[in-house]
Amino acid sequence: MKYRDEYRAPDAARGYADAIARITTRPWTLMEVCGGQTHAIVRFGIDQLLPEAISLIHGPGCPVCVTPIAYIDKALEIAALPRVILCTFGDMLRVPGTQSDLSAARARGADVRVVYSPLEALTVARQNPRHEVVFFAVGFETTAPANAMAVYQAQREGLGNFSVLVSQVLVPPAIRALLERPGNRVQGFLAAGHVCTITGYEEYEPIARKHGVPIVVTGFEPLDILEGVYRCVRQLEQGESCVENQYSRAVRRPGNAMAQQVMQAVFQVVPRQWRGMGDIPDSGLGLSPAYRSYDAETRFGAVNGEAEMRGDCLSGAVLRGEIRPDQCPAFGSRCTPERPLGVTMVSEEGACAAYYRYRRPTGGSARE
Ligand code: SF4
Repeated sequence: MKYRDEYRAPDAARGYADAIARITTRPWTLMEVCGGQTHAIVRFGIDQLLPEAISLIHGPGCPVCVTPIAYIDKALEIAALPRVILCTFGDMLRVPGTQSDLSAARARGADVRVVYSPLEALTVARQNPRHEVVFFAVGFETTAPANAMAVYQAQREGLGNFSVLVSQVLVPPAIRALLERPGNRVQGFLAAGHVCTITGYEEYEPIARKHGVPIVVTGFEPLDILEGVYRCVRQLEQGESCVENQYSRAVRRPGNAMAQQVMQAVFQVVPRQWRGMGDIPDSGLGLSPAYRSYDAETRFGAVNGEAEMRGDCLSGAVLRGEIRPDQCPAFGSRCTPERPLGVTMVSEEGACAAYYRYRRPTGGSARE
């Protein structure tokens, strides 16, 4: 398949692994930011191809996983109201709230609908004028333009029964927060290519300079990731710390100006709470004053409460890259995708789900 098979060629992958081994003179720890990259790494055994001196640790790059539990509880509270339709992506259905999840709420009779885009939620609002339709807008910079467009469109149409519960987060402040955590081990980052298609990567440059870490904007296929690791290690070995763009087939330094314009018109930068990471200043998007009437928090009350679930799930430590999923005592035994204890096992992009799918503890890896 064009644009896929050429990025999965085994000989080229071995060539990159050999090249990385040749330039590596001491241990380095790198973090891939995005859950999609984590899945590719685990699925294709990329970490096992690398020299032992290179450690890849998985970052907080799953938007479903970092959504605080207080937002799940708020979505449940809204869904339980009469004449409300809550629209969400399928991944959110089984994310546990404090007492329940949206899938169970639906079984109890709440009108919770899975949509594939925010514009589909707008259609639901047009078709159900007697209902309040709320879209649960979760995501990084990748989903923000489409979510902004839905709000913009709702205002243009004067659609009064549509609102969004916004849990949009931004990647660069999270990278900064990780680097500033006491005991940080990360020496270089593979930044998420799809996020940078929207934002570009200028914002990463002061982070690389200030913290002395290389950041390589990287795609999602095995050769993308291996080349990202190679470029990161090459910089570390040469004592450099700048931003490089491995994913030039999709990413330009300034990003996508039209997408940025609609985001900036509808949203403003706000502080956000992240599951696993706590409060991070300027790390999220909320509706700007001109669009605040479309904010579900304006209509149904502010989100309030905890970011984390109490209990023995170690999702927070997984999201901070402090442990690998298979180091959690519950992994694969008390916690499986069928009976998940935490969000990193529930979400398609979650690191625990990736390890369970491709490396479950039944002896050896279980690759597709
Ligand atoms: S394996 Fe399950 S219990 Fe352990 S951190 Fe992952 S989601 Fe939580």
